[in-house]
Amino acid sequence: MEEKDKLSNPQVTIQTIQKYGFQFQKRYGQNFLIDSHVIGKILRAADIKDTDTVVEIGPGFGTLTQYLAEAAGFVYAVEIDGKLLPVLEDTLSSFTNVKVIHQDILKCDLRQLIGEGKTCKIVANLPYYITTPIIMGLLEGQVPAESITVMVQKEVADRMAAAPGSKIYGALSLAVQYYADTYLAANVPPNCFMPRPAVGSAVIRLTRRAVPPVEVKDASRMFRLIRASFNERRKTLVNGLRNDPQLGISREQAEEALRKMGLEPTVRGEKLSLEQFAELSDLLPQTE
Ligand code: SAM
Repeated sequence: MEEKDKLSNPQVTIQTIQKYGFQFQKRYGQNFLIDSHVIGKILRAADIKDTDTVVEIGPGFGTLTQYLAEAAGFVYAVEIDGKLLPVLEDTLSSFTNVKVIHQDILKCDLRQLIGEGKTCKIVANLPYYITTPIIMGLLEGQVPAESITVMVQKEVADRMAAAPGSKIYGALSLAVQYYADTYLAANVPPNCFMPRPAVGSAVIRLTRRAVPPVEVKDASRMFRLIRASFNERRKTLVNGLRNDPQLGISREQAEEALRKMGLEPTVRGEKLSLEQFAELSDLLPQTE
């Protein structure tokens, strides 16, 4: 397919909108890409090879899909909006290695979709309203994804990659970094999309770790602890922990564990690394 005929050419996207009388759905986070340079950056970050199976979340008109189909072995494109199905049939008609699945990605069993024992690369310009559930679902679930290369809100990409001590470091940074290595591939301004989003965007690649970077007796309890610590951001970690009734931790127990770790009782959650949260989790009583 020639570059000028692809949807990354804004004229082709405009013609497609007119041909189908398409109306963008805000509730589905529809901001379509209209910039081939940005798509090039996504493809390079994802390192797509002709032997790869790719799962694209939310193909929209098929703008990114056209490039993925040229680069990959096979592409599964999962789209929730039924109004886009006739458009995709048209814009992807010259490719025999793409299958469009009409489904909510949050309800889609990707393992079953790509076939037992197979792995895939996930690539997407994500609908921003469900970025966190999609990413956490992919990381926590049994999805055999080698890497996840996604366009997200810039602020969310920065939070995923943030280091301890920084203002934006929080529960999302810790959860993502427990499962994956992060690589910020590009910043993308609003004028690369139609319609323009109100926020800046960024491409981030998450590469699943073979083994978690820390050992902890009960990882899900550690994550509950992390969430409680950051729930009360302006308060101390001790207050965050004792105010979560499900954790059942007293002020004395929390302070004692921090003392053993050589930390002040007034320390805030954002100062602790993943290693320290693992240590804290193991030191605190395990019953809930
Ligand atoms: N990939 C296209 C592009 O880059 O031009 C469209 C990206 S747009 C930001 C997000 C897409 O995800 C839309 O097509 C939207 O309809 C779709 N979408 C939204 N929620 C979804 C869900 N829960 N499951 C699958 N697709 C979804």
